Amino acid sequence: MIHFEETDNPDVNLVLRVSKPIYTGNTGYQDVEVFENEAFGRVLALDGVVQTTERDAFVYHEMLVHAPLFAHGEARRVLIIGGGDGGALEETLKHPVEHVAMVEIDRSVIELCRAHLPSVCGAAFDDPRLDLVIGDGAKFVAETDQSFDVILVDSTEPTGPGDVLFDTPFYVDCRRRLAPGGILVTQNAVPFLQAAVARNAVRRLRPLFKDVALYLASVPSFVGGHMAFCWAAQSAEARRTPLETLARRHAGSGLKMRYYTPEVHRAAFVLPPYIGELMA
Ligand code: SAM
Repeated sequence: MIHFEETDNPDVNLVLRVSKPIYTGNTGYQDVEVFENEAFGRVLALDGVVQTTERDAFVYHEMLVHAPLFAHGEARRVLIIGGGDGGALEETLKHPVEHVAMVEIDRSVIELCRAHLPSVCGAAFDDPRLDLVIGDGAKFVAETDQSFDVILVDSTEPTGPGDVLFDTPFYVDCRRRLAPGGILVTQNAVPFLQAAVARNAVRRLRPLFKDVALYLASVPSFVGGHMAFCWAAQSAEARRTPLETLARRHAGSGLKMRYYTPEVHRAAFVLPPYIGELMA
């Protein structure tokens, strides 16, 4: 019997039975594994850490994307940094956006996900609203003169190529590239086991944005309980969008979702004290 074991934490790790190995290799940027597991379906792991699985990808992508997009209400230009599995892109394109720039450092991740995890990305990579850039997201935001209504940082962990996406210079550039009323959302791992990731994001974003908050989602393949997203904007207005407004926008979109609802959206910002104290 073959097993995949995560390698990021020496003390606690997810072990998944591999019912069918699909791909193992190194892209030049990172180690990639794609395999099948009876509980999670097809699984993508990068540098020994599970990124996306067919069965629970909806949780992460719906909360990363729909929370800021429904709160913003009029987002037309969206930037996705990372996100090579295409799930965040697919959810973003369900909104009436005009332009989505996606900057992914590793073309091989996109190619492997299109080939082996098509249920995660759907036809998103063929959408004419997409401007796909293969490159470093930090370099892109440092150099571009475009502005965006929402920036989604769908990165790997703060090790390897994703490291720069957790640092102040990147956040400063994101702030510069946000249009008035813009929202930045970043993925910040699982606070129970990786408290420093969310704490550092809050500490680094607070001097730059007037409104910084954490919100939560429960992703079954992420070990250790809730995962955190960090939300940053220059006003608390979008974060405080009333439930009735979110419900109207959600109903108006006609979208069917499996994790996101306006109520889940509002509740996601309510933090248990052990996570809330990371904001202190
Ligand atoms: N959903 C995932 C999670 O929970 O961690 C993240 C998914 S996505 C596969 C992460 C992507 O970020 C990877 O494809 C990786 O290649 C990309 N990435 C890492 N560092 C990057 C950088 N500096 N610029 C652009 N993309 C980057």
